[in-house]
Amino acid sequence: MTAPLVEVKAISKTFTRKAAAAGGKTTHKALDAVSFVMDRPERVALIGPSGSGKSTLLRAISGLHAIDRGDGTVSVLGQPVQANGRLSQDVRRIRTRMGLIAQQFNLVPRLSLFTNVALGFLGKISALRGLFGLWSADEKQKVMRALDHVGVAAMAGQRANTLSGGQQQRGAIARAIVQDAEVVLADEPVASLDPVTARKVMKLLVDLNEQSGVGVIVTLHQVDYARAYCNRILALKDGKVVYDGPSAQLSDETLRDIYGAEIEDAYWGEDHAS
Ligand code: ADP
Ligand code: MG
Repeated sequence: MTAPLVEVKAISKTFTRKAAAAGGKTTHKALDAVSFVMDRPERVALIGPSGSGKSTLLRAISGLHAIDRGDGTVSVLGQPVQANGRLSQDVRRIRTRMGLIAQQFNLVPRLSLFTNVALGFLGKISALRGLFGLWSADEKQKVMRALDHVGVAAMAGQRANTLSGGQQQRGAIARAIVQDAEVVLADEPVASLDPVTARKVMKLLVDLNEQSGVGVIVTLHQVDYARAYCNRILALKDGKVVYDGPSAQLSDETLRDIYGAEIEDAYWGEDHAS
C-alpha cells in the first residue's frame, strides 16, 4: 500500500495579534482540529469564506507555517512535514516534490520565463549549476515541452514581468511540470484572471491531475469553479471542516450555511444570470 499523497491529522493553528489596547493581545484560531486525507491523486477544491483558514491550511501542508503544538501532524507522500508544532528537518526536500502556486508573483520578475520554469529543476541539480543557467540539453527540452504544453512556448525568452497574469500562471504550472511535482498546492491561482483565462488555467490543473496523476489542492474563491473542475470539495468555516466529499453532492443548503451572507460573492454570476 502506498502512503497517502496528503495526510493532515487534527491540526490547529492559532495566531496571536496585538490588540488595540496597549500591550494587549488577542488570539485567533485560524485552523481548529482540521483533518484531511488524499489517498490517491484527486482534484480537491478548498473553499470557504474569506478568513476561513484556506491559505493557512495550504501553508501548513507545504510546511510554510508551523502548526500549534499538540497531536496534530502533516505528512505529504508519506513523509512527515510537521508534528507537534515543529517543521520536519526534511521539509525542504519534501517540498521539492510539491508544486506551489499562488495567486500572483509566482515568477522571479527579472528572469526569463524559460529560466523561471527551469528553476523547477533546482531540487534535483546543484544550486550552482542552476545559478549559472547551465541546463543540460535534456533539461532545456523538458522546459520547452512544458512551456509548449501550457501554451506559452513563444514567450520563453521574455522576462516574467512582461507577461500577462494568465501567462505567468501558465509559467507557474510549467515549473511544477518540470519539477515533476507529485502534489500541487495552488492558492487562489485564478483569482486575478479574467473568466476565460481562469478556465484555461483550471483546465491545465485538471490535465495535470488526469494525465500525470498529480494530486491537486486548489483554493477557489468561487464555488462554481470548484464544482466544475474538482471532483472533491473541502469546505472550511471559521477554521473547521464543514464539508468534505464529492463536489456533486455539495448542496446549495450546505453552501448557504458555509457562506452565510457572503453567498452572492461565491458565484461567478455569468451562469446564474442566464
Ligand atoms: P483564507 O485564506 O480562507 O481567506 P487565511 O488562512 O488567510 O484565510 O486566514 C485565516 C485567519 O487567520 C484570518 O482570520 C486571518 O486574519 C488570520 N491570519 C492568517 N495569517 C495570519 C498571520 N500571519 N498573522 C495573524 N493572523 C493571520
Ligand atoms: Mg487565502
